[in-house]
Amino acid sequence: MACKYRCNWPWSFIFWLLVFSVFSITGKSTVLATQIRRKLHDEGSFISIDCGLSEESGYTDNKTQIHYTSDAEFIDTGTNKNISDKFISETLHRTFTKVRSFPEGKRNCYTLRPPEGKDTIYLIRAYFMYGNYDNLDRQPQFDLYVGVNSWDTVKFENATHVVMKEILHVPSMDDVYVCLLNTDMGTPFISALELRHFHNSSYRTQSGSLALYKRLDIGSTTNEIVRYNEDSYDRIWFPYNLPNCSVLMNTSFIVDSLKNTEYRLPSMVMRTALTPKNGTDSLELEFDTGDPTLEFYVYMHFAEVEKLKENEHREFNIKLNGNLWNESVVPQYLHSTTIYSKNSIRGTKLTFTLHKRSNSSLPPILNAMEIYIVKDFLHQPTDQEDVNAITDIKSSYRLGKLWQGDPCAPIHSWNELSCSYNGYDAPKIISLNLSSSGLTGKIILSFSKLKSMQYLDLSNNSLTGPLPEFFSQLPNLRTINLSGNRLSGAVPSILKEKKMNGSLSLSWDGNPDLCLQDPCKKEERNLLPVIAAIISSIFLLIIVSVVLIVIWRRRCKRMPAAQQAVGSFEVILKSNNKQFTYPQLVNITNNFQKLIGKGGFGTVYHGCFSDGTQVAVKMLSLKSPQGSKQFQTEAQLLMRVHHRNLAAFLGYCNEGGCYAIIYEYMACGNLKDYLSDSRKDPLSWKQRIQIAIDAAQGLEYLHKGCKPPIIHRDIKTANILLNEKLQAKVADFGVSKFFPTENDSHISTAVVGTLGYLDPEYYISSRLNEKSDIYSFGIVLLELITGQPAIIRSHQNTHVVQWVSPFLAGGDIRHIVDPKLQGGFDIGSMWKAVEVAIACVPQVSVQRPDMSYVVTELKECLEMEAACEEIPGTDDNMLKSNSLLEMNILNLGTESGPEAR
Ligand code: ATP
Repeated sequence: MACKYRCNWPWSFIFWLLVFSVFSITGKSTVLATQIRRKLHDEGSFISIDCGLSEESGYTDNKTQIHYTSDAEFIDTGTNKNISDKFISETLHRTFTKVRSFPEGKRNCYTLRPPEGKDTIYLIRAYFMYGNYDNLDRQPQFDLYVGVNSWDTVKFENATHVVMKEILHVPSMDDVYVCLLNTDMGTPFISALELRHFHNSSYRTQSGSLALYKRLDIGSTTNEIVRYNEDSYDRIWFPYNLPNCSVLMNTSFIVDSLKNTEYRLPSMVMRTALTPKNGTDSLELEFDTGDPTLEFYVYMHFAEVEKLKENEHREFNIKLNGNLWNESVVPQYLHSTTIYSKNSIRGTKLTFTLHKRSNSSLPPILNAMEIYIVKDFLHQPTDQEDVNAITDIKSSYRLGKLWQGDPCAPIHSWNELSCSYNGYDAPKIISLNLSSSGLTGKIILSFSKLKSMQYLDLSNNSLTGPLPEFFSQLPNLRTINLSGNRLSGAVPSILKEKKMNGSLSLSWDGNPDLCLQDPCKKEERNLLPVIAAIISSIFLLIIVSVVLIVIWRRRCKRMPAAQQAVGSFEVILKSNNKQFTYPQLVNITNNFQKLIGKGGFGTVYHGCFSDGTQVAVKMLSLKSPQGSKQFQTEAQLLMRVHHRNLAAFLGYCNEGGCYAIIYEYMACGNLKDYLSDSRKDPLSWKQRIQIAIDAAQGLEYLHKGCKPPIIHRDIKTANILLNEKLQAKVADFGVSKFFPTENDSHISTAVVGTLGYLDPEYYISSRLNEKSDIYSFGIVLLELITGQPAIIRSHQNTHVVQWVSPFLAGGDIRHIVDPKLQGGFDIGSMWKAVEVAIACVPQVSVQRPDMSYVVTELKECLEMEAACEEIPGTDDNMLKSNSLLEMNILNLGTESGPEAR
């Protein structure tokens, strides 16, 4: 009989309020262990912040002996608040009595700089308790980020609900940013923040960071939590017992007293364990995760706590969901052993069974267990050199409090700069607009470290000193605006040269002490006449400027659009604005000369920026009276969506009834045309899977990486664009939002989408969710597999799903695969892709998987195909695949569809 423990997510942290208050008892009972353990670590390298504590104050927690400091040195923004008196009690830990709240700014970040630097494991823990600190009696909800990646969402059940988020993270930068993002659901706040450094060899995984799901002290004798300084890493262990079906075992000796493992497990936790009651053979623990897409890493910790007799032996295996997970565990006396998953595991239910082996005289035991959720952090932080340079610039000129966290973060990057995101390399800063920012002093060397910078605007500040020559060494720099400062001395001749030959647009007007002559000589003059001359010239200048402005304004009004466009692009670049005027569009598209395509929403033209970047300008036909405002809001939102598999949104125009979007140019056009163009070489199966993965990743980002999620609504092969390397990017995301819908109800007045790709459930109910995109993606996948369009005209307008169904029901894949592939594919890979496609297209949306599942499965398809290509002696792909194809068909019964594989 198995002894079973059931565990459901989410669990409550209410008893957390007692956590700190009861800890002292735990501490007293283990004085000896504590003394030994204290030598193992240095609490000084902990970062423990009581958020909201007044500047320069701090205290030592008398239960854990951890020293908490104010957060003032870790963040520039936010306000300190006290929670409501009615929630303050003796059992409430001090860190919860104050919070720091962030009513301003969309993104507020703490900067933690641990002395151990990057590329090592840290435990980061954040605590939140609302306590009605703002007297609004309304608990907010907001997002938590580590650097540029989403960590979790913080939400509360009531005012005293303590939310704790913990993650094991290996930062790739020296500074660790913990950011709170306002998602328009109330003001973000935080109660406490902790960072602990871990031994480097522990908790290493193949993927991502690990968010805590469970950490159990199994067989606890005190029923209290254990943390620092029992645990030198300050992990928090929650007591767990199975009173009905297990017996507690413990020892008074110290576990790992002589030699610690890399996990440095607390003796307090390891010296207790559970074993099945009444000599039963197995111990079973069951966790209802409820989500098939989550990936977990599990660590089980064992130590023998009984001194076994000579004729006694304890050995057991571990099964996960009925499959062998570990063949043999023999716990060592008073020494810990950790068994962990080498690869991540999934399942709505995780059932671990510890089963006595036949040669064992004793039942299994379990001392402690940890389960973590994998957090795949896809976004890269900004290039480290750029971060160092911009941080220097920020501190030297005492710049904006709102410059926080990662400069190029995909959501809410710093306002004054823009970045290049090519998806594969770290983002780099390409433009910086510090016009009228109150800069004083010299132009510092750090500007020269921004190696990718193309545009720099330092106009209208009070900068002094020389115009540095180092600007000439920035290879990509095209525009510098230094006008309206107090620079002095000679302009370096190399910069003058670059200005003359047009390779650099350099403005230096309004710097009276800048010497433009060559050689630069200072005329000796009597001081009085000089001052008189300066005053009179300023006076004259003002009069002339006023007259010129009046004339210019009048002329401008009369000038035809195309004429105004000349030179106006530069103005836009200087102001670092991505909103373009209509004349600028005329300029960019060379008067709309080259048409690339026409869609339901408008016409697409080829264009070129002044730096040679090719673009696609999509002119939208928006007729709605509310169009302009809605367009502006949506366009500005979309400017912030960046992913390597989304066609980059470079700018927009919203002027006098003209609505346009500027996209990056995709040289190989759309997938629909590519698949059907008989003049092009047919795409191989590997290329097709890669395209499917690219598009799936773009879509996954819209669904999972954007808050709120973006539902594309019009996924189809015509909206998947290919660049010159045949890398696929999803286009037209968010475009349907430019057209009016009924607010947030997700019930649109008109069903948006394209025939053949339209989710049947959405079509009937008008109720939209991410699963509608999944359906459309399934159709795209079927097109890649079959080479047929969504609606097959040659077969009496048959839908591709209807067309493939009877073949698949008969296990016949040969008839559906695109003949252009000529059998050049691995059959296992092809079947898997068919399964994914079919999984995406059930009529009922809840039966469809989510995009993360699709991405994972498609990556496996690619691996299978790649592995097959590597088989020696299989150069003749066609032969190889055809024989496999035959075998597969022979092995399939007539009943077997794709599920039967
Ligand atoms: P609909 O707008 O009705 O969904 P569609 O997606 O085909 O149809 P558009 O998005 O307007 O229409 O695009 C029309 C065509 O222009 C595309 O099919 C594609 O060939 C071309 N095109 C669009 N954007 C780009 C781009 N960024 N780079 C290169 N070509 C593009």
